[in-house]
Order: sequence, then structure tokens, then C-alpha cells
Amino acid sequence: MKVLVAVKRVIDAYVKVRVKADGSGVETQNVKMSMNPFCEIAVEEAVRMKEAGVATEIVAVSCGAQSSQETLRTALAMGADRGILVQSDEVLQPLAIAKLLKAVVEKESPEVVLLGKQAVDSDFNQTGQMLAALLGWSQATFASKVIKEDGMLRVTREIDGGLETLEVKLPAVVTADLRLNEPRYASLPNIMKAKKKPIDTLTPDELGVDVTPRLKVIKVTEPPARQAGVKVANVAELVTKLKSEAKVI
Ligand code: AMP
Repeated sequence: MKVLVAVKRVIDAYVKVRVKADGSGVETQNVKMSMNPFCEIAVEEAVRMKEAGVATEIVAVSCGAQSSQETLRTALAMGADRGILVQSDEVLQPLAIAKLLKAVVEKESPEVVLLGKQAVDSDFNQTGQMLAALLGWSQATFASKVIKEDGMLRVTREIDGGLETLEVKLPAVVTADLRLNEPRYASLPNIMKAKKKPIDTLTPDELGVDVTPRLKVIKVTEPPARQAGVKVANVAELVTKLKSEAKVI
């Protein structure tokens, strides 16, 4: 079974994100970038499928600037077999990415496409769902467990207040939630080996996809700064303040 994994390069999850002075977006110049954490989980799941003899080949795909090659190298160091960079310097929104991934799926014919449930930079949580709809494939989102059975996947999903288990027919699109697995760190020998693994480069034009943005970002603002707390001397003072100042009791 061939598995395609979509990986996005985003601002590192441990970096304090700063809004640009003109409010047009967030600062990405001179900021540490990494693979989106949910994409790492998706890659790890694909690698575990291969180690279990369920997957035969893992192809990692990233859409974006030339620098997304680094993210693909990380996926290759974790265990993906080869990479595809869909290179574009345009702003790529979820529908455009879903169309690009659909075109790659048509070239590669995987049985499963794994994505992160969400990119932590733009928080869209749309790409996997749009891709499944465009392909007309089954989808299982927010997966916390994936098991392959005859011609289908049994996927446990994290839903409000519990877990839901679905059977989805192959081919299918699956998006990874936080508790699906704990991604491995790539070892130094694997990082070295990854340098030799192939990465093909395609463009949206070659794939016949129009990536013109459909959404316009009006403004990006910082969240309001939290007010400093105060120390109270005793419970009576706390209760008085909760009643008269915070007005929560
Ligand atoms: P989103 O819908 O933007 O929250 O992203 C959900 C998932 O779609 C990510 O975790 C990735 O697996 C995939 N994805 C989003 N953007 C890209 C991209 N530029 N290149 C490759 N995959 C992406």
C-alpha cells in the first residue's frame, strides 16, 4: 500500500509569533521554521505502517517555497522514501493546496493520504476534508488510532466527550490528531541517508492548478495582553474581590 503524506513548513511551535507592524500577517523573516507538529504525527504514522509491513512506500509532499525542501528532508529522515515539492511563492490557501494534492494523488495513485488535522500557523483545519471531497474518497479526521484491515481502515477519532470508531473504505484520506502517536526524532545516520533520497519538484502550472487566493486577510492582530494578577491576604479578601471587582460570584 502506497501512502502519501502532506507536510507543511510552519513557524516553529516554540517560537513566540509576532504580528507584522502593518497588521498584514505574522513575521516569518529570520524566524525558526519547522514541520507542522500534526504533520510530524502523520509522517510517524506512515513510517509505523511501513515498519508493520502495511505500507510499501511513503511519499512526502509539501507545497510552498523552495525552503519547504527542508521540511521534506525532515520527513525523509523520519523514514519517508521520497519527496515531492510543489514549488510556489504564492500564498497557498487550503483549497489551492487540496487541488495541488489531488493532482499529485492522480499522478502517484496512493491508497491512503495522511495529513495533519490542522496547520498550527493558520489553524484552518480544512485541507484534508477538501481533498477527500475533491477526490470523492472516504475521510476520517482527527484520528487517534489507525488500523488497516481487509480493504479498509478502522479509525478511532477523537470527538467531544469520547472516541468514535469508523470503518472507511480505501482509498481514504486520514488526518492525524495529537494522540495518534509520538513522533520520533530523526537519528543522525537517518538525517545523512535522507540527503540522498530523491525529491522531485513540480509547479502548480505543471499540475494544471490555479492557486489564486479566494480569501482575503483583512487584518491580523495580537491577542489582548493579559492583565497582571494581584495577591490577596486571605480568603475573605479574595471573596470580596471576586464579588465587587471581578463580579464573578
Ligand atoms: P490546514 O487545513 O491548513 O489546517 O492544514 C491541515 C493539513 O493539511 C496540514 O497538517 C498538512 O498535512 C496539510 N497541508 C496544509 N498546507 C500544506 C502545504 N502547504 N503543503 C503540504 N501540506 C499542507
